[in-house]
Amino acid sequence: MILNKHCCEDMAYHVDFECDVHSNPFDCPDKLVIYDKEENDYALIIHDGGTATISICYCPWRGTVLKGSSHKNADLQR
Ligand SMILES: [Zn+2]
Ligand SMILES: [Zn+2]
Repeated sequence: MILNKHCCEDMAYHVDFECDVHSNPFDCPDKLVIYDKEENDYALIIHDGGTATISICYCPWRGTVLKGSSHKNADLQR
């Protein structure tokens, strides 16, 4: 795993986290952050049983500005 792909190791851990039980990240309560490679966009999963996410522009752990994160995709992605 290349740590500098993401802002910090906490982010890298959560982005790369894969659950053995839940194949769908939206079903897994342990999966917090989802990363869209194409958009270079980080989002928090809203665990309300659906597939809602909230895009984030700052690292929740370190407060680092997430490079490439764009405000244009701030709406909910499905
Ligand atoms: Zn970070
Ligand atoms: Zn799980």
